Amino acid sequence: MAAEHAAMAHYEAELKAGRFVIQHCRACERHVFYPRAICPHCAADALGWVVPSGLGRVYSTTVVRRPADKGGPYNVALIDLDEGVRLMSRVDGLAPEAVRIGQRVRLALATIKGQPAPVFHVDEAAP
Ligand SMILES: [Zn+2]
Repeated sequence: MAAEHAAMAHYEAELKAGRFVIQHCRACERHVFYPRAICPHCAADALGWVVPSGLGRVYSTTVVRRPADKGGPYNVALIDLDEGVRLMSRVDGLAPEAVRIGQRVRLALATIKGQPAPVFHVDEAAP
């Protein structure tokens, strides 16, 4: 669908410019991720873009085993942002198996396979 494609294109353009954005529904006031044309909560065509706080919490975590010569094991995590949306990402800055469910994390942007992507760092001091 063209509108879905336009939403994803906007999201990717913002990422390339160094900004991670999510959508916010002006009808039901809930946040939305990943990018789409219609609010999944209330079906309104009233989605705008906002910069989230960047704070979240680890919902689940997995260590993906990979040979050392291919970069070694890495972390895949589902992160719940404080805005109420969940995204698949990873937690950087500590050993993959040291990531814990419930850890407070803060968004950062990394380059993964040449593309900007949202990742997270543990932030125990986050409110
Ligand atoms: Zn809505």
